[in-house]
Amino acid sequence: MGLAGAFSFYPGKNLGACGEAGAVTTSNELIADKIRMIRDHGQAKKYYHDMEGYNGRLDAIQAGLLRVKLKSLPGWNENRRRNAALYTALFADNGAFNTVLPPYVPEWTRPVFHLYIARVPRREKLQAYLNENGIGTGLHYPVPVHLQRAYAGKGYKENDYPISEKVASEILSLPMFPELTEEQIRFVVNKIKDFCAK
Ligand SMILES: *Cc1c(COP(=O)(O)O)cnc(C)c1O
Repeated sequence: MGLAGAFSFYPGKNLGACGEAGAVTTSNELIADKIRMIRDHGQAKKYYHDMEGYNGRLDAIQAGLLRVKLKSLPGWNENRRRNAALYTALFADNGAFNTVLPPYVPEWTRPVFHLYIARVPRREKLQAYLNENGIGTGLHYPVPVHLQRAYAGKGYKENDYPISEKVASEILSLPMFPELTEEQIRFVVNKIKDFCAK
C-alpha cells in the first residue's frame, strides 16, 4: 500500500521483538536507499555522510528472533481474530451494545487486532473496577494529537475536534493476545456487564 509501509516490532505488537525494532517496506529504490542512509547516520558509504541521519539499525539478534517468530504470525493473528469475534459476539449477546461499543470493522478490512478497543461508559471507574478484579486494560490513547504539547505551536485548542476528544475519553483497550482463552474473555465481558448493570 502506498510508496512505503512502516512496521513496528515493539515487544507488545503482533510480531514483537525482544526490544525495540521496526522495518520499512517499499518497492521504490530511491526511498529504499534513502531509508538505509537515514538509519545509519546518513552514510551512503562507510565514513561518508551524505545527510544527517540517526542510529536506527536493527540489531542482528532482534532480526534473528523476529525471523523465527514470523513463522507463527499467521496463527497468532488468527487467534486474535477469533478472540475479537468472541468479545464482539458476547457484547451483542449480552445486550450490552447499548452501553459498550465494540470496534467497528468495515466490510473491506481484515483486522489483525493488535488491540481490541471498545468505547465504554464511565471509563475511569470501569477501568478501576476491572483492575480490582485482576483485569489489566490500557488506553490507546487518552490525549488526541491536536492537544499534545508537541503540537501546541499549531494553535489548536480544546473543542476543535469534539469527536476525537469524546472518543479519547471513552476508549478502553481490553485484554488481547493470541493465548487468551474463551473462559478469560467471558470473565472480562461478564465483569463489564456487571459494572454496567450497577
Ligand atoms: C506501536 C505503536 C506505536 C509505536 O511504534 P514505534 O514506532 O515502535 O514506537 C505508535 N502508535 C501506535 C498506534 C502503535 O500501535
